[in-house]
Amino acid sequence: MAGEPQDDCLFCKIVAGTIPATIVRETDTTVAFRDINPQAPTHVLVIPKAHHRDAAALAAEAPELAADVLRETQAVADQEKLESYRTVFNTGSGAGQTVWHAHAHVLGGRGLEWPPG
Ligand code: 5GP
Ligand code: ZN
Repeated sequence: MAGEPQDDCLFCKIVAGTIPATIVRETDTTVAFRDINPQAPTHVLVIPKAHHRDAAALAAEAPELAADVLRETQAVADQEKLESYRTVFNTGSGAGQTVWHAHAHVLGGRGLEWPPG
């Protein structure tokens, strides 16, 4: 069910602490941790603690929680002293989504080209 922890979900395991991660921020409802394969000097993932499949599902199923995630992207940028940064939600495998627990990528610390690849 939406919002419930999933046994086979990597990010639910990070929330539970059964898989380690370098956590940079935590709130009652969210966790932010460094991406294991960073694509920029700062590459942090912000996730809701509750399991939702992707960003759109999160917004539909728990809009206040979606707002918490967005608020935390700015908090991460502030903490990492990023003047500019990019927030990315990959949705669907064709767009590069590999983990089916909603997450915002916060990328910064270098110039970022537009359009993305
Ligand atoms: P997606 O491709 O779904 O948008 O993003 C998933 C992200 O999770 C990828 O950037 C990938 O590097 C990261 N990732 C995958 N496994 C782990 C892990 O075990 N720990 C951490 N910290 N990041 C992970
Ligand atoms: Zn999950």
